[in-house]
Amino acid sequence: DDFLTKPIRASHLISSVRIRAARFRKLRSLMTKDSMTGLFNHTTTKQFLAVELARAQRNAASLTMAALDIDHFKVVNDTYGHGVGDRVIKALSRLLRLRLRSADIIGRMGGEEFSAIMIDTGLDEAWHVFEQIRQAFSDIEFSAGEQTFRVTISCGIAALPDYKTAQELSDAADKALYAAKNGGRNQVVKAN
Ligand code: GH3
Ligand code: MG
Ligand code: MG
Repeated sequence: DDFLTKPIRASHLISSVRIRAARFRKLRSLMTKDSMTGLFNHTTTKQFLAVELARAQRNAASLTMAALDIDHFKVVNDTYGHGVGDRVIKALSRLLRLRLRSADIIGRMGGEEFSAIMIDTGLDEAWHVFEQIRQAFSDIEFSAGEQTFRVTISCGIAALPDYKTAQELSDAADKALYAAKNGGRNQVVKAN
């Protein structure tokens, strides 16, 4: 990265290393996180899923994968503008971070779609958690100028040991999400 010529003052060495460490952390964050929400990006979330799935299978532990999508989000953007839409996305990100555990992996998969990997958590327990998140989110009153409005989410969940690969697990969660949408939205559906 750089050459430091001896003799070097201790304070100079420390600040050089500190600057480089900070730059590295910033770079790593840019590569793995979504800049708008601070959640993991699509690629990183998929990598975590592969790692956590292998770990759970090795330890015969439970693991649940959730796929979430904001309902009728296009209407929010069209009615209140993109900036207000962004605020809704950030609010959901914050709620997910608040309600899930620190070991859980939360990713923004693109647009208004999110994934969560719940470590050591079975399907029924996860359903209750996401049901609470769904309710809490639908209770949030957003404001845009003089107007106020509410937004809902749909969620599909699937768990080990029903599925053997990361692809099968996330496909099952997506399929359950699709069923939640078709069932009238604003609900959490378990994969069957
Ligand atoms: P559904 O209930 O079926 O999910 O309907 P929907 O309107 O949410 O679904 P659709 O996928 O048609 O619309 C998603 C919209 O999300 C379209 C796109 O413009 C918007 N969007 C994607 N990324 C962002 C973003 O970062 N910010 C904002 N404000 N809007 C976004
Ligand atoms: Mg969508
Ligand atoms: Mg949507």
